[in-house]
Amino acid sequence: MSDKRDYYEVLGVSKSASDAEIKKAYRKLALKYHPDKNPDDAGAEAKFKEAAEAYEVLSNAEKKQRYDQFGHAGMSGAGGFGGGMNMDDIFSQFGDIFGNAFGGGGGGGFGGPRGGTRVVKGSNLRVKMKLNLQEIAEGVTKKIKVNKLVNVEGVTYKDCPTCKGSGRITRVQQTFLGAMQTQTTCNTCRGAGRMIDKCPSGADEQGLKREEDVVEIDIPAGVEEGIQLSVTGKGNAGPFDGIPGDLIVVIEEVEHEELRRDGQHLHYEAYVNFVDAVLGASIEIPTVTGKAKIKVEAGTQSGKTLRLKGKGLPVLQGYGTGDLFVHINVWTPKKVSKSEKEILEKLRDSENFDPQPDHNDKGFFQRMKDMFH
Ligand SMILES: [Zn+2]
Repeated sequence: MSDKRDYYEVLGVSKSASDAEIKKAYRKLALKYHPDKNPDDAGAEAKFKEAAEAYEVLSNAEKKQRYDQFGHAGMSGAGGFGGGMNMDDIFSQFGDIFGNAFGGGGGGGFGGPRGGTRVVKGSNLRVKMKLNLQEIAEGVTKKIKVNKLVNVEGVTYKDCPTCKGSGRITRVQQTFLGAMQTQTTCNTCRGAGRMIDKCPSGADEQGLKREEDVVEIDIPAGVEEGIQLSVTGKGNAGPFDGIPGDLIVVIEEVEHEELRRDGQHLHYEAYVNFVDAVLGASIEIPTVTGKAKIKVEAGTQSGKTLRLKGKGLPVLQGYGTGDLFVHINVWTPKKVSKSEKEILEKLRDSENFDPQPDHNDKGFFQRMKDMFH
């Protein structure tokens, strides 16, 4: 069974709807779910495609009749309606639906220097890039080697014989309402309108070859594991002298030996000995760019957290910098010598060594809540 929705249901019209009603219903849906109005909305895009497919069938007398008789089953197979429509097909319908509402060349990422033909875009190139915390904190320019498709010099082009250079195939069908014109992207040249005429050796059938290239990439400060940066036009060259694809850089974060990252903030577990906690001390801690000295006040309790403002990481394309949280742990020796033990035994019953918890301190949980408030 097909899991496709009924085309009449998709457009919200009855089976007896006129062509004008079908067109009107589709126009309304196409405007509502148009990708230009719903950027990065996969749900809207699916609805947009669904409506276009329904319209493609119901606006065509022959397909409509077949659909009315056999349902979705009548739409697959030879001469039928196969695996859905791509965006180019959809936008090519728009000429007679909207006039020039979305611009002459069509709205969907084509158009360009050669009149109505589609400029074919090259494929995107993906690379992984490992960065350490310092590079992430400061931003960095990296040179990387890529193996990409480039245009071969000396390739000459000729107009595609199938579409005569227009990139589109126009069909005129006679229906009971008169001549109906439909346009589709030319299959021979995939809409480019041209083909390779003379091709030097070493080039593939699209006039391209693989070549090693060194690309310089500016990584902004504040990126994190898994973020993808897109460098426009640095991907594979476009077939038929089209426009190049993009270079997608996937960031991999190399874990710091001592600092732990939490978004824009960093955390460090510092261990001080018991005497330093009692008498106070200056201790050295790591930062993303090197080392820093901080003061541990006399009488510091284990579990205290020191917050170093602005010593974290910058916010990617935002404002401000995170903080570095230093968590103080008082180190308890696991073994002691005989003389150490003698000193400690003397301290055991000494008056200041009796724990006197601060009952205003609500403990670790509340301190964490206050800190991130
Ligand atoms: Zn063609």
